[in-house]
Amino acid sequence: MAEVTERILELERRRSVAHMKFVQLLDEGRAQLLREVDAIEEELRQLVSLSGQLPVLIRWTPGPEVTVYHSEKHPCRRVSGRGRHRTSFQRTTEQQALNRGLTRCTACNWATHEREAAEAHA
Ligand SMILES: [Zn+2]
Repeated sequence: MAEVTERILELERRRSVAHMKFVQLLDEGRAQLLREVDAIEEELRQLVSLSGQLPVLIRWTPGPEVTVYHSEKHPCRRVSGRGRHRTSFQRTTEQQALNRGLTRCTACNWATHEREAAEAHA
């Protein structure tokens, strides 16, 4: 009888170990998936950025010389702030803005804009 009890305990222990191994494999698989997806999304984001097709905004109204362009999707307060109007800005592509010698506004949220554009392609 002691042998049977011993065998039962042994089987229960093995079942427990099998469960723990399964959970560990799941955790490792999840971590690997996240690493791969992160790398893919980063490359997608870079491609979208390099494509020059991101929609951007350039002010056309009179004022200080225009040197920067803004994110169309996640603009800073120079576009969306109080007293500012989207109609003061012309919509174009980033490549067009670069061709005019303009540079990215550093206040706009380009990271989010690029990520969303990359996700739209995914
Ligand atoms: Zn801006």
